[in-house]
Amino acid sequence: MNKAQAKIVKRIYQEYLTGKTPDRIARLFRSEKVKNWDGKYNWQATSIDSMLRNEKYMGDTILQKSYTQDFLTKKRVVNDGKLQMYHIQDDHEAIIDIDTWNAVQQEIARREKYCEEHRTNAYAQLTETKPLSCKVICGECNYLYTRVQYTYRDGRRVAKWRCASTNKAGGARVCSNRYVLEEALIKLFIMSWNEIAGNYDEYKDFWKKNLKEGDELLRYKTKQIMAAAKKGKIKELDGELMIMAMDYIKIFESGRLVIRSYDGTEFECETE
Ligand SMILES: [Zn+2]
Repeated sequence: MNKAQAKIVKRIYQEYLTGKTPDRIARLFRSEKVKNWDGKYNWQATSIDSMLRNEKYMGDTILQKSYTQDFLTKKRVVNDGKLQMYHIQDDHEAIIDIDTWNAVQQEIARREKYCEEHRTNAYAQLTETKPLSCKVICGECNYLYTRVQYTYRDGRRVAKWRCASTNKAGGARVCSNRYVLEEALIKLFIMSWNEIAGNYDEYKDFWKKNLKEGDELLRYKTKQIMAAAKKGKIKELDGELMIMAMDYIKIFESGRLVIRSYDGTEFECETE
């Protein structure tokens, strides 16, 4: 693998951790005319997906993390510094560091679990135009909310979100949870983001705890959120920020809305 290819692999891992799907990364690469290994740029989601799971990119790093303490019992223990770290093969350098690799594996598992829990296979699809898709959850039945566009007689158009299980079971309404205006969801995101970005210093201790005690994914997401929050408040919806930072918004029949970021911060508000 040459340097240019290594750079592409690194970018795939980074893009995935900003919330993009393998499909969106493939489309992005095709539009940017990023050359694949065969010199063409017909990137496919399936190949991006397998690259995200390819242990080869982690190089030999994992071999340095543990060593065989006793050759008779073959017991492997974590390398706590007793052995000097070394490369098994000098020509096989790690392209992805072990923390990033682990963060991606945890994110793959997290998305799979999320899809299972909320009965969808469309996680983060079309985030370019619909950053809220698959991120609005029914607090009553756990289904996802979907977007519905209404056009009034006077031509006014308004987007609302409603529980997707409403249309299941042969059209019968199986969940009666409320509709919410898209505008309200966007406002909630902006308000909660500005709460973090506007009080950066007050959240520092919370983030430090994440960085100290969290797994690789939580540490990665916390660093991303800290870097974005440092840039300050936002005035309007930033879709890319939303897919990077926001885990979900949960809607309850009572009108309570809960918004959660990937760093674990949660805010609540009441809607009409
Ligand atoms: Zn529901």
